[in-house]
Amino acid sequence: MLDGLGSSLKDALKKLAGKTVVDKAAVDDLVRDLQRALLQADVNVKLVMRLSEAIRTRSLEEEPPKGMGVREHVLRIVYHELVNLVGGDTAGVVLEPQTILMAGLQGSGKTTTTAKIARYFYRKGLRTGVICADTFRPGAYEQLKTLCSGDNIPCFGDPDEPDAMKTVAAGLDALSGTEVVIIDTQGRHALEDDLISEIIAINEAVHATHRWLVIDAALGQQASEQARRFHEAIAIDGVIITKMDGTAKGGGALSAVSETGSGVVFIGSGETISDLERFESDGFISRLLGMGDLRSLVERAEQAMAEEEVDVSSLMKGKFTLRDMYGQLEAINRMGPLKQIMSMLPMGGMSIPEDVCDVTSVKMERYKVIMDSMTPAELDSPSILGRSRVHRIARGAGRSPDEVRELIKYYKIMQRAIKGLRGGGKFNMQRMMKKFGGMQ
Ligand code: GDP
Ligand code: MG
Repeated sequence: MLDGLGSSLKDALKKLAGKTVVDKAAVDDLVRDLQRALLQADVNVKLVMRLSEAIRTRSLEEEPPKGMGVREHVLRIVYHELVNLVGGDTAGVVLEPQTILMAGLQGSGKTTTTAKIARYFYRKGLRTGVICADTFRPGAYEQLKTLCSGDNIPCFGDPDEPDAMKTVAAGLDALSGTEVVIIDTQGRHALEDDLISEIIAINEAVHATHRWLVIDAALGQQASEQARRFHEAIAIDGVIITKMDGTAKGGGALSAVSETGSGVVFIGSGETISDLERFESDGFISRLLGMGDLRSLVERAEQAMAEEEVDVSSLMKGKFTLRDMYGQLEAINRMGPLKQIMSMLPMGGMSIPEDVCDVTSVKMERYKVIMDSMTPAELDSPSILGRSRVHRIARGAGRSPDEVRELIKYYKIMQRAIKGLRGGGKFNMQRMMKKFGGMQ
């Protein structure tokens, strides 16, 4: 499923490698490839459009975190949006005593999955048993028993009993010593009223801890209809999508189920009893994109963003000295063109010379060299910087006195700007950084 996605995305992302700004054409290319792959996987058109739009705007508008390249920035956004599409944080599987009621149409893979899940809990060390409550399909009990025999998992059933409720009651009695009981129920070829009323009755009788729905991945986006109907009947709290190995429509089934609000707990990926995988959307998408280290990349980015925020907020506290400016020069510069920021602030009629606002990275380095020639007292109290000190600093740094004065002027403007930001209330530093971030 979604097989083409990994490779076409990689090609599209290659076009962004080494770039310093996010290129609109490259993002459009990437979004187009992504759309094609998702539509082929039978993901709903509306969902695809929503996702494309989110990727496009976020890629172009959000500022890449410090130290992160354009390619990684876009990849991170694609990853987040895909994880969201298939369900974000999914329902948990807890390893404790519980009763699980299995629901689903005939042929969806319910009986196979019942045995797979029983084996899953059994291998985690829980005493597990299964009940066959399928009175509709001949040989249902034999099938389940055979599937469970490999691990000696007890299987209760009575092929001669036509009443599913009685079988379930007897089964719960017989398995009273086990910790996890999984009940396999009957299915029909279509959603019928008596199928639904039977599952409602069993659900009420057994007080199941979980009600899990088994859905065939080949249904694609039609999976949402089944998920919705069963959910209305018995409040499904987990979905297993089977036969992911045999269809290209898995993406459709996954996103359709996610849309209904029922989390996907497992994925069936083959006919044998061991072909069951816990579904976690982030790991799933990482593997899909063929990038095992994606999660750590995303964590790194989030870390960098958090650090950036701390930097900026420290600007807002206490007195703003040259020492603070030294430490924050880069953060200040990242806020974007100083002139634009200044124009939004109450500067008390102070005029701002063009060259002072235009702080390039070369100039920033120069400012640092100049500040290195200052004494701690000067850095902490810039007001003591008179004519003779300016000349001494200039000599020490190998720059002209005018350059030292320019630095002091820049500092004063910054100081006033920070004061304005502190007092202004309505000025939000972060919002401002976002706004100006991309404009340098
Ligand atoms: P039920 O009618 O819902 O109980 O479905 P069954 O468990 O009897 O499965 C129906 C068919 O689907 C069987 O042939 C299974 O072997 C097959 N099947 C179930 N799960 C999977 C899966 O994840 N992958 C594949 N390829 N086949 C599966
Ligand atoms: Mg069955």
